[in-house]
Amino acid sequence: MSARDPIADLRRIAFLLERANEATYRVRAFRSAAKALGALPAGAVADRARSGKLTELSGVGDVTARCVVESLAGEEPVYLRRLVATEGTDLDAAAAALRDALRGDCHTHSDWSDGGSPIEEMALAAVELGHEYLVLTDHSPRLTVARGLTAERLRRQLDHVAAVNEALPKGFRILTGIEVDILADGSLDQDEELLARLDVVVGSVHSGLNDDRAKMTRRMLTAIANPHLDILGHCTGRMVSSRPAGVTGPGDRGHRARTRKESDFDADAVFAACAEHGVAVEINSRPERQDPPKRLIRRALEAGCWFAVNTDAHAPGQLDWQRFGCERAALCGVPPNRVVNTWKADRLVKWAHTRR
Ligand SMILES: [Zn+2]
Ligand SMILES: [Zn+2]
Repeated sequence: MSARDPIADLRRIAFLLERANEATYRVRAFRSAAKALGALPAGAVADRARSGKLTELSGVGDVTARCVVESLAGEEPVYLRRLVATEGTDLDAAAAALRDALRGDCHTHSDWSDGGSPIEEMALAAVELGHEYLVLTDHSPRLTVARGLTAERLRRQLDHVAAVNEALPKGFRILTGIEVDILADGSLDQDEELLARLDVVVGSVHSGLNDDRAKMTRRMLTAIANPHLDILGHCTGRMVSSRPAGVTGPGDRGHRARTRKESDFDADAVFAACAEHGVAVEINSRPERQDPPKRLIRRALEAGCWFAVNTDAHAPGQLDWQRFGCERAALCGVPPNRVVNTWKADRLVKWAHTRR
């Protein structure tokens, strides 16, 4: 294949990012790289690409260097291909197709912790939405503000879920689970033996969200390497708007109007670890969370991660919020075959357990 023009490719990427209203610093990365390479004499770009010295130039980073290497090899850079693939497509149709492909929801709460409704009502609402399963993920013990379940209460919940499942329509079941706190040292806030019994384990950071970058990265990497963790919940912890009326949740009591910035962590390291350990990255559909932000969804996709489009519903009506997550996933070009809750319940549970 004959080489493409790497500088034109970088500039095209910058243009498409701008048009998609992406963060300025991301656009600038591509524009700066194009400028730095444009200033070199003829042939110098290819020489540097061959000897792996592109990133020694100021303005050229790992991502932009990779694009250049791909261009010179005659391939449309993967980064560009993704942007092109998602622009101009009918996003409404893509989001609807993803929503249609979803068979269940992997992050939901009941009145056993901080949700507003009994398990039975959540399950019936999920049946009405056409789901085949609902993973019940009430909070873990240390999250006392959300009435996190002790080991004892979780054991009782498991018995209760078994009984409720008996009474539910055929073809639907509640899967057992937890939204377990990722503690300060990266360990998970529930007994190992119990985590091993659950169908699906979502792990989230709810405390120490202002940990410095190194500490937060270590903490998340420890949790991701834990074989019990299946899905990394709302990974940045950000709150982009106040909570909808009548909705409460951990860490936000009395602070309904508060927004919260993203936690600081090395996203490339975290997503690489998720891909390596087969941990799915949650796309949290809650309007006030929209977590992770689109630029991180794209990076997780690039890293080869699985995803789970979840509602984090605390009430039955919120189970229909999945479409918000689907819209954001579609904007980032996440294909349905990378989303674990498009799978049937048996496959999902098997996937979660082969990791343990
Ligand atoms: Zn949470
Ligand atoms: Zn939750």
